[in-house]
Amino acid sequence: MRPFTTETLEKTLTEKLMLNFSKTPDEATDQEMMKACALVLRDVMAIRGVETRKKTNREQRKRVHYLSMEFLMGRSLMKNAYNLDVLPQLKEALSNLGFKAGDIFEMEPDAALGNGGLGRLAACYLDSMATLDIPATGYSICYDLGLFKQKIVEGEQVELPDHWKDLGMSWLVPKPEEAQEVRFGGTLREFWDNGRLHTVNENATTVLAVPCDMKIPGFGTDHVNTLRLWEPRATSPMDMSLFSRGEYLKAAEEEAMAESISKVLYPDDSHEEGKSLRLKQQYFFVSATMQSITTKHMAMYGTMKNFHEKNVIQINDTHPALVIPELMRILIDDTGMNWDDAWAITTQSVAYTNHTVLAEALERWPQKLMEQRLPRIWQIIKEISARWQKKVDEYYHDPGKTQYMAIVWDGQVRMANLCLAGSMAVNGVSALHTDILRNDVFRDACQMEPWKFKNVTNGIDHRRWLSEINPGLDSLIRDLAGGDEYLSDAMALQKLDSYAGDKSVLDRLGEIKRQNKEAFALHAKKTRGVILDPNSIFDVQVKRLHEYKRQLLNVLHIIALYQRLQDDPNAITQPHTFLFGAKAAPGYVVAKRIIRLINSLEDQIAHDPICKDKLQVVFLENYRVSLAEVLMPASEVSQQISTAGKEASGTGNMKFMMNGALTVGTLDGANVEMNQVLGEENMFLFGLHADEVQQLKREGYVPQRLYTQNETLRRCVDALRTGFRDGVTYEDLYQRLLFGSGGSAADEYLLLADFASYCQAEQDMAAAYMDRERWNRMSLHNIARSGIFAADRSVKEYADNIWHVSHR
Ligand SMILES: *Cc1c(COP(=O)(O)O)cnc(C)c1O
Repeated sequence: MRPFTTETLEKTLTEKLMLNFSKTPDEATDQEMMKACALVLRDVMAIRGVETRKKTNREQRKRVHYLSMEFLMGRSLMKNAYNLDVLPQLKEALSNLGFKAGDIFEMEPDAALGNGGLGRLAACYLDSMATLDIPATGYSICYDLGLFKQKIVEGEQVELPDHWKDLGMSWLVPKPEEAQEVRFGGTLREFWDNGRLHTVNENATTVLAVPCDMKIPGFGTDHVNTLRLWEPRATSPMDMSLFSRGEYLKAAEEEAMAESISKVLYPDDSHEEGKSLRLKQQYFFVSATMQSITTKHMAMYGTMKNFHEKNVIQINDTHPALVIPELMRILIDDTGMNWDDAWAITTQSVAYTNHTVLAEALERWPQKLMEQRLPRIWQIIKEISARWQKKVDEYYHDPGKTQYMAIVWDGQVRMANLCLAGSMAVNGVSALHTDILRNDVFRDACQMEPWKFKNVTNGIDHRRWLSEINPGLDSLIRDLAGGDEYLSDAMALQKLDSYAGDKSVLDRLGEIKRQNKEAFALHAKKTRGVILDPNSIFDVQVKRLHEYKRQLLNVLHIIALYQRLQDDPNAITQPHTFLFGAKAAPGYVVAKRIIRLINSLEDQIAHDPICKDKLQVVFLENYRVSLAEVLMPASEVSQQISTAGKEASGTGNMKFMMNGALTVGTLDGANVEMNQVLGEENMFLFGLHADEVQQLKREGYVPQRLYTQNETLRRCVDALRTGFRDGVTYEDLYQRLLFGSGGSAADEYLLLADFASYCQAEQDMAAAYMDRERWNRMSLHNIARSGIFAADRSVKEYADNIWHVSHR
């Protein structure tokens, strides 16, 4: 049911402005109007949220609890208006009140409570869970600062704080009456009572966790779910005893300590640092969440025995893995259950999604840290570890496997192994990735308990990533594929396939892309002051900067093109624009050097008259959800060029495909499944396959050999040493490729091995681009077959195969 007409919306917005800011619409700023819009929609969602909760309780439905350290939500105003079916009404009401809807939407800061794909996935799944009427809650931390804002200063990344809450807070409702106490440190005391051994955690430091709830409306339903973000507070902000003893500073210190927990989101993507504050963050949000869930369950059912029948806890990577010992703690210490019963319930409640096979990203915590910070949790982990070790030993009788699968080993706690032991399901995020988990990374655990291992290929919210951000394409699809059916059934996109021979449809598709490119060029001019050529190929690589994602391979190819142009100024007939966007973890030195290199190359090419109207490189600063939203509709080529076997799934690849970009990529992550639906003829594949990568590494990979043999390759690798017109040289990157550095092998990610094949794919792509009709047809096929990458499909698979909850 649409909650507003344009008229009632105008009236309600006017009232909100009056009540909150004492202003009439003609006095209000864009900021105030943005807040008023958020508050008005928030009210509707609050009311529907109550209805949803009552219905769920009445029907005693099983609930999904989705725990993730990251939710990369982006903006919510347009999205919520879209899902509530009032977007056109809101735009009209704003206009009638004297505002530009576009300006109001632009006011909203991104809620960047995440790094990249993992956090964005969690956000897309929230949308699908609500849309599918699944009673689900997301849980995370209410970080004061989201992911840093990136500025490029003299070619280098500079990180600035992201104060998203100034306006982003408008969506949040604090629920102090549902606060929970989380305990850190202290000592354990054990005593016998009634024939039972009790353990109490004494002298602990307690931190209060206050929920701040954000409502998540579904599309085409009145169902509204919640994203619960925990905020820490000192338990006694006014510790009068300390104040009266004159210990003013100590009292203030306690408050600062508590609040430091939610200060920042860790900006590391696929790399774990093992920092003490990070462990505190994890336990803080896990403990608050589990207490909140179990308290509500007890209030409703009066027993914990059926907990697993009414709740499922999905953990997004190992970051929330402490739910396993925390649920054990609650069941044993707080409800008096014995170990075996508690373990049976826990291992039927928790499900774990793995997101990476990179060794440096598998979480390990120093045992010492756990022991000091979380003494009771440490005790429980030790017991889980001992029992698991016994089970493995009795199954394999192989000390090597016992060591490999151990949870506690050599002074470290291995979180992935804890998850294998304590979960009912373990899933990878693409067919290839799950294969690698089953046959390699988790092979031994999989042989022992094969039923636990499942695949759920990632998906994206196609309403946001197509319909909402690409109105031109949306209206073409509505015209061709049965109106808005595709919004609730993404597989309806397939109907587009039957227009592959229709010249007028292909032309219209080309025209839509052209307009989106012009719109993006305008955006780039306004925000960055660069002039883009809409006649050139928009060839895009946007994602976190990581060596395995191989932005450097893209750069090497561009250098090769540039050098060819030096030899022959007519070598390029089709103008080509390479667009990059990427943040590097602040401590990841090599990644930052690659950003510096892209900027050097941009500068070099921009100042070389030979390249004019032929070749351009642009580094787009501060890549984030709202930038992706203007870029995806304008993209023509999607660079998905990770070393095969390293990218678990990728979701950027899916956003591009849905918006009609063609993929240049390796057979990695979800690209494999993309290839299955598209065939070789609708994408540009290159490079070694995952098994060939492994084989080459086994046999001993010698990049110098390729460097010596391939003249083109040698010349562009040498260009790194020579450097560019800005005077910056890249000897370090040259060394890393040919000889290795900092403990990493020479060309760890096989750039040189895939270089020739990559150049060929780019050449084939540029040739295909010249035939506009063929290109548009390939683009049409990409859109038509992208339906399987809708998050609705992924979430239904979780619901049917792992959670066993009903859905629409
Ligand atoms: C989708 C998305 C990602 C993930 O991109 P990959 O190419 O899959 O790594 C990262 N950041 C943002 C802002 C995104 O929207």
